[in-house]
Amino acid sequence: MTFKDLNLIPEILKALNKENYTTPTPIQEQAIPAVLAGRDLFGCAQTGTGKTAAFALPIVQLLNEQQARTQAQRRIRSLILTPTRELALQIAENMQAYSQFTPLRNAAIVGGVSQKAQERSLSQGPDILIATPGRLIDLMNQKQINLQYVQILVLDEADRMLDMGFIHDVKKIIAQMPSKRQTLFFSATMPPEISKMVKSLLVDPVKVEI
Ligand code: AMP
Repeated sequence: MTFKDLNLIPEILKALNKENYTTPTPIQEQAIPAVLAGRDLFGCAQTGTGKTAAFALPIVQLLNEQQARTQAQRRIRSLILTPTRELALQIAENMQAYSQFTPLRNAAIVGGVSQKAQERSLSQGPDILIATPGRLIDLMNQKQINLQYVQILVLDEADRMLDMGFIHDVKKIIAQMPSKRQTLFFSATMPPEISKMVKSLLVDPVKVEI
């Protein structure tokens, strides 16, 4: 299996080539076709399995195709929520690499840094926003962020977000976006609270376990 077999567009194949990725990991093989087909996804996978590219590559492809087709205005069309600043910056770096040959823009919103720089990157109109829940809520409360155009939501390391006490923030954030959307949910463990979230947020999900 190659990335080309997964029907990824030349812009993405070129980026993967540049990053020296040759073959998809198992989670990528399973997740990429499901996400490209518009399905919700439940992924039970740890960091290190190639989980980030498993959701990031099809997101880049779907948003890029839509942009080319409709000349869509720049709006946040995908939101990726992750528990820590380190994970958010890592995902943003990967997203930047994967989308480098497309016109898509990314921004990262994390705590512990000046809000000014983040306001500037938001004013440039990112298509994809990568965020930790706390800082995102702050900016939402200040009406700096509009989530009404989000089409693809990723909850990364949902169990850790729960452990870190972000569940209330996450629910508040989700309430601000359209209910008609694609949701990709990743968690390494499945405590009852996570099963409950999976049931309430995902519609007929494809399940991928690594
Ligand atoms: P992740 O599990 O998403 O944190 O990815 C772990 C590491 O593997 C990251 O440094 C990725 O850049 C890298 N990676 C992801 N997918 C591939 C692939 N198919 N081939 C080579 N490296 C990869």
